[in-house]
Amino acid sequence: MDWKKIKKIDAHVHILPPEILKLYREGEPDCPWAHADPDEYAGVMEKYNVEKTVIVPNNDGRMYYPKADDTNRWLGELQKKYPDLFFAFADVRKEGSYFMEDSPYVLEDAINEYGLAGLKIHPNNLQLDADSLEMVPLLRKAAELKVPVMIHSNPCKVGFHDNCAPDKINKMMQVFPDLTIITAHMGGMKWQDAITGCGYVDISAVLPEFVNLYGIEQTNRILRGFGTDRLIFATDYPDVWFTETESIYETYCDILNQMDFSEEEAYKIAYGNIEKILGKHFNSN
Ligand SMILES: [Zn+2]
Repeated sequence: MDWKKIKKIDAHVHILPPEILKLYREGEPDCPWAHADPDEYAGVMEKYNVEKTVIVPNNDGRMYYPKADDTNRWLGELQKKYPDLFFAFADVRKEGSYFMEDSPYVLEDAINEYGLAGLKIHPNNLQLDADSLEMVPLLRKAAELKVPVMIHSNPCKVGFHDNCAPDKINKMMQVFPDLTIITAHMGGMKWQDAITGCGYVDISAVLPEFVNLYGIEQTNRILRGFGTDRLIFATDYPDVWFTETESIYETYCDILNQMDFSEEEAYKIAYGNIEKILGKHFNSN
């Protein structure tokens, strides 16, 4: 089995709005974000048999549109432009104390009006703890709309590291047993706390660093610790922290080829688990 050849869904990818992409391309052409272009990325998908991709924003008004609703409308258009390739998760912003009041409605429109398939929460960029009571109305709404929620979780470059600690996310899994939560990046360097949760984890960004730190065999044991029913293939393209953007799929496939997954287990990680999570969106898209 070769991970380069098996069909995959990448559950954590960033594409930028054209205006922002232009700023990166002109101002910082060497920055990974200069590759957050839908057409360039579609070529990468084809090369590595990534059949579909979940496009996620990051609650940052500097990288997407200042208003979450504008970002969500654009993401809806992106989904429509590439109906066979992209699903998108909704964005939210925290503007003072309006987060609790506004964000459930922003999410509702994103799902019902723009046809998005889930919600992305980045606690650090929101400057909110993942288990803050301020999250409750938004998470309640996501549960009501029956859409999955991906929560950024360690490591992070900005804000307080602790906002997105897996333990805080685990708490929300207990408070919202009817909500599907994906802990992004396996909880990063706090992966041991993420293992004790009961939700899904995406393996984006940190997998190469696990191999650097622990070696192949221990990385295999960590992935086994989560179990193949919880793992979701993802890279965080183009924002890769521990390898080059151009070779992210080479790196990921090379590592995964060295794990001891059976064909059936690899299918679940590469495709089946996220297909199940996307549910009706998967079939309608
Ligand atoms: Zn990301």
